Amino acid sequence: MVLFHVMALPATKHDLSPMMQRYLEYKERYPDAILFFQVGDFYELFFDDAVAVSKALNLTLTSRDKNAANPIPMCGVPVSVLDGYVDRLLPLGFSVAVVSQSGSGSGVDRALERFVTPGMRLFNSISSDVAESLIAAVGIDASGSMASIACTDPQTGIISVRDSLELGIIPRELANLMVREVVLPRAAFGDKVDRRTGWVRSIEGAVSKAAMRFRGEPAGPTELERGLGTDAAAELHAMSVSAKRAVRSLLSYLDEISLGNPVPVRELSLFRSAGSVIIDAATRRNLELVQNTKDGSAAGTLFGFLNETVTPGGARLLRNWILTPLIDVGQIRDRQAALKEVMPGARGVLKSLEGLSDLERLTARIQLSVGSPKDLGAVRDTLERLPQLRQILSEAGSKLLASCVSALTPPPGVCELLQRALVDSPPHVLHDGGVIREGYDVQLDEIRGIRATADAWREQFEAQERQGSGISSLKVKSNNVIGFFIEVPTSQGSKVPANYIRRQSTANAERFTTPELKKHEDAVITAVDRQIKREQELFVALRAEIAKSVEVLRHVARGIAVADTIAALAVVAEGNAWVEPEVTEDPVLEIERGRHPIVAALLEGAFIPNSVAFLGDGPTCFLVTGPNMGGKSTYLRQTALIALLAQIGSFVPAERAKVGIIDRVFARLGAADDLHEGESTFMVEMREAAHILSHATRRSLVLIDELGRGTATSDGLSLAQAILERLALEVKCRTLFATHYHELTGLAGSCKEIENLSVGSVEREDTVIFTHEIQAGPAPRSYGLEVAKLSGLPAEVIARAFEVLASLPGAGTKQTVIKKPVQQPDLFAPRPSPADAVALKLKERIESLNLEDLSAREALSLLYELKELGAAARVPAPVR
Ligand code: ATP
Repeated sequence: MVLFHVMALPATKHDLSPMMQRYLEYKERYPDAILFFQVGDFYELFFDDAVAVSKALNLTLTSRDKNAANPIPMCGVPVSVLDGYVDRLLPLGFSVAVVSQSGSGSGVDRALERFVTPGMRLFNSISSDVAESLIAAVGIDASGSMASIACTDPQTGIISVRDSLELGIIPRELANLMVREVVLPRAAFGDKVDRRTGWVRSIEGAVSKAAMRFRGEPAGPTELERGLGTDAAAELHAMSVSAKRAVRSLLSYLDEISLGNPVPVRELSLFRSAGSVIIDAATRRNLELVQNTKDGSAAGTLFGFLNETVTPGGARLLRNWILTPLIDVGQIRDRQAALKEVMPGARGVLKSLEGLSDLERLTARIQLSVGSPKDLGAVRDTLERLPQLRQILSEAGSKLLASCVSALTPPPGVCELLQRALVDSPPHVLHDGGVIREGYDVQLDEIRGIRATADAWREQFEAQERQGSGISSLKVKSNNVIGFFIEVPTSQGSKVPANYIRRQSTANAERFTTPELKKHEDAVITAVDRQIKREQELFVALRAEIAKSVEVLRHVARGIAVADTIAALAVVAEGNAWVEPEVTEDPVLEIERGRHPIVAALLEGAFIPNSVAFLGDGPTCFLVTGPNMGGKSTYLRQTALIALLAQIGSFVPAERAKVGIIDRVFARLGAADDLHEGESTFMVEMREAAHILSHATRRSLVLIDELGRGTATSDGLSLAQAILERLALEVKCRTLFATHYHELTGLAGSCKEIENLSVGSVEREDTVIFTHEIQAGPAPRSYGLEVAKLSGLPAEVIARAFEVLASLPGAGTKQTVIKKPVQQPDLFAPRPSPADAVALKLKERIESLNLEDLSAREALSLLYELKELGAAARVPAPVR
């Protein structure tokens, strides 16, 4: 954890050196950012920044003015390796400001070179990171009851709003969105808000402390808002107070970090989850969709497995498709049709896309006026390759690929303009020139002509001086330090003419100038300056011209990304012998001989395929029992992954699959969600269960593994049963419920909605062998001790455990099984009132009567009894 505010900035700057005063001026301008301040060959960090970064990146922390009463904490990195450190700080949530130095000695000057935030990395060089860079802002209404989130990926220019949520839901929503940084109000419902505020602390699982920015909320509509455009303004007008606040905060933060460039927002929309499967953060993590649980990388994840894309935009789109599978059968079939069509030539498509630049990010950088000469060169090179790509896809008949082909039409004239204007390999930076091609601009060519004649002049001057001095080894050279000079070997020193003016001595030579050479140097310097200035002017105008076509360029980028993603999915499907699933609206999920994509690939031929059969009119809930390590979790995960793959539009690892549209997936397997600070595993597990029960619908898929293990067996069992009953009997969603509570298997006999499955195992010579095969019916027993033997526990401990087991009540008898759903009050239903309880008693009593056998006398006494029971129903009126 990063430590903050260990050493506050000094109250007065007067005791500090001019350099440190300058440092503090920058720090005041960028208070949230880690400030890298160049001092010679190092970028130095001071005060809290030094402490935080030394901890985060494991740098040595030293101090400036060690002997002073208050030495300043300090650490630094060499100038040449700065980028690596910046790239490591961004994922941790830090913003970075880089202040670089120019000139030397007393003429040293410093200026802001770069300002990068985790969400606005467009000012940094283009990185290979494929995750979206979402920046979010939270707005809260005056009562504190409702909050909204506005978020954007600056490179797409779309702000999406989640309007009117309960404040308590905000951490979960931010985690679901995977935001890179979040803007929070400095005050809410009359109270100050900071990192110690309760609800802010619970956001910490979703975004790091370093990625939280606290800002005052803009009081009302701002200029930025007025610049949104009619449609976006109308959308905003219709939103709640908290949503308006969130949007305003976000716009003002984007303005702040865009450093005066126009805020790249073109669209504002309410988030509508209706278009895709809702996958919460815990499910995403448990299924390892895009990040593994080990180190947060993509290795071993579904994304890692599917990612055969060859362009950064393709990889980003694939990741996005995985996180938002479709729920519209028509759209899914469109993707399937495209995938089938591209399959025979998929490798060829990928080959034709190889090496293409990240057009989406390049476009965003051009729009922000930070696109470099190299960026524009990359746009040109990409556009040049479009005809070939269109040619490869030209036969496409499927809707999706045909739309790709039409998207791959470059904006008119842009490629030609870039071809005429830019040199073949434009440099990264503009300030040294060498960007614009000859023949593009008459004025520039003239200036260049002066420089060319200067070279000829230098040769002729060198020949003239050799002849005049009689020194045949005399040379006329130049360097960046002393400009043009005549160099004479020390051994020829006696022949140096009297009009030579000494400039410098080196080990073997003396360097001179003459008034004629000086005059020439001035002319050349002027020509170089004019050339660079002219190139800069031309480049800025060129970039502005290209910026007019950003919409079309974005369209092209989308076309490339879709072609790449579809081709990648086709390559994976073909390479692993996957099949096309049938997708339907019916509430079914039938998988024949399905495989876990990643585990099956790891185990190669050794993976045992398994089937699932939610047939729509049969059981909705399968209770999966079996020994530890038997393969229950793998079975649950593979079922979810196959369903999600189908809704992504991909083929699936099975021999046959029929997938009925799923609206939400809940996967509670493995380690519990650690979002809620200060809560026990059990409490978190129960919260998760409550979340599932209140959000799952008939169309959801729920996977639960070992619910209730964090408490006493009887409590855990009761809770597991009650939750299982609610899912099976009321929600009726497709559920796989893996459990070690053997007692629950009895429910299958009395509930048609619940059926038993078990993972196969064979007992052999007091050990157990897993067959990993899913079969009908409950597991005969749990084999916990036999499996523990395989773990390396000392033999004596295992032997003792067998003794303890034998002495437990009920040992040796068949394990108890529950025959009927519990008729107790439901844990998650509202508590019955006393009146309800009496009504229930009356009902039960009346139902138990056999009127035929009742004598007159018995009937009378029964009436008295019922009257007495009924009297208890008159509950006292509430006290006012
Ligand atoms: P526990 O109850 O202890 O959590 P489990 O029953 O959930 O265990 P898994 O974690 O799913 O078991 O699987 C354990 C190991 O068994 C996996 O790591 C995998 O190597 C192997 N395995 C699981 N399923 C199969 C399968 N279908 N075919 C082959 N090997 C499998």
